[in-house]
Amino acid sequence: MKFCVVGAGFSGAVIARHLAEAAHAVVVVDERPHVGGNCHTERDAETGVMVHCYGPHIFHTAHERVWRYIQRFGNFRLYTNRVKAISGGHVYSLPVNLLTINQFFGCTMSPKAARVFIEAKADHSIVNPVSFEEQALKMVGPELYEAFFRGYTRKQWGIDPAELPASILKRLPLRFDYDDNYFSHPYQGMPEEGYTAIVRNILDVSGIETRMNCSFESISNDFDHVFYTGPIDRYFNFRIGHLAYRTLDFERFVEEGDYQGTAVVNYCDEEVPYTRITEHKYFAPWEKDGFSKTVCFREYSRSAHKKDIPYYPVRLVNDGILLDNYIEMAREQKNVSFLGRLGTYRYLDMDVTIKEALDACNVIDRALQSPEFS
Ligand code: FAD
Ligand code: UDP
Repeated sequence: MKFCVVGAGFSGAVIARHLAEAAHAVVVVDERPHVGGNCHTERDAETGVMVHCYGPHIFHTAHERVWRYIQRFGNFRLYTNRVKAISGGHVYSLPVNLLTINQFFGCTMSPKAARVFIEAKADHSIVNPVSFEEQALKMVGPELYEAFFRGYTRKQWGIDPAELPASILKRLPLRFDYDDNYFSHPYQGMPEEGYTAIVRNILDVSGIETRMNCSFESISNDFDHVFYTGPIDRYFNFRIGHLAYRTLDFERFVEEGDYQGTAVVNYCDEEVPYTRITEHKYFAPWEKDGFSKTVCFREYSRSAHKKDIPYYPVRLVNDGILLDNYIEMAREQKNVSFLGRLGTYRYLDMDVTIKEALDACNVIDRALQSPEFS
């Protein structure tokens, strides 16, 4: 059997390796010059700092199987994401925790008192929040919503939080203790040599031919099966329309020494045009003191046009017919499987991407053992 995997991100790499280990020939194509997809990391030529080229990526998971899998391909170092947020001229801690609440309201509340205090602010008339705004008002009340979520979200998504699904905010915890770890998962870390080295190692097995700078559209498709991790609408040549994406612009700047003293500072006020500034040497705390210069990126979010890199799928509360139609068209494709963040048009963290790819490998094994293939 001859397989093609479109995309050399985590989704494509995990599938390709599995097929190659089962002694199948696999061609992996990616139109970028590097493997790793959006998780790509490389050393900044001027400063030597390991940079997350398509935005900061922190590995976190509750799936032990995924954690075990990824560690076969590189060493992970301890990393805890502690985000700072600037709102109304003050610096706070995110996700909203007891420090944020006490600083914002100028109090010294205990966990119990803060819980009662925030519950009194929460809008209990909202029973089943559908939109981001409803979710925020029900979770933290109007003041914290205005200070930390409304402006940032309008910049990030380009639309009012009343039109965005509640699921986007459900990603963030609300804590009544001083735990400022951005994630709650038991396994968290940062690859010592960056994500690209990990993906390169996943792909480093005999049976895989990797073709970079190569789009799927430019090769002849004589494969028995294609695993497609590119944008689902692009596969069908946008026949029934374009799915909406947000893209990011990164404004790079270099400073002597230190810039902001931490990896991520969010700018929650709408008047500030960027959403956050990331200082990448802080993503590698074990080596951060070894650089004389520091490299940072201001991150701007906007609507993606045809030639832009698609970053975030925009799923509006009342959107979905176009996507449903594409999903139906994808189901009708006999020799193509759609996977990953772009292939399924969902916001997926790296660990979920890897888990879904590993689950797909089980499905592939069952299909290959069926009488049709043996
Ligand atoms: P991708 O990494 O997008 O790979 C798809 C590849 O397919 C790309 O390399 C592309 O060039 C290639 N391709 C597409 N179409 C074609 C074609 N027609 N021909 C050839 N090649 C093609 N997750 C976390 O767990 N933690 C984080 O902190 C985190 N931060 C993030 C920050 C940002 C700004 C964004 C946007 C995402 C973040 N994620 C994070 C999510 C993470 O990026 C994804 O989970 C992961 O990249 C998905 O991998 P993938 O292989 O499905 O897709
Ligand atoms: N968000 C916000 N203010 C912040 C951080 C996040 O309003 O300071 C919102 C924003 O809409 C974002 C969502 O919460 O898309 C989820 O946050 P997360 O950090 O997971 O953002 P993402 O991974 O989407 O960049």
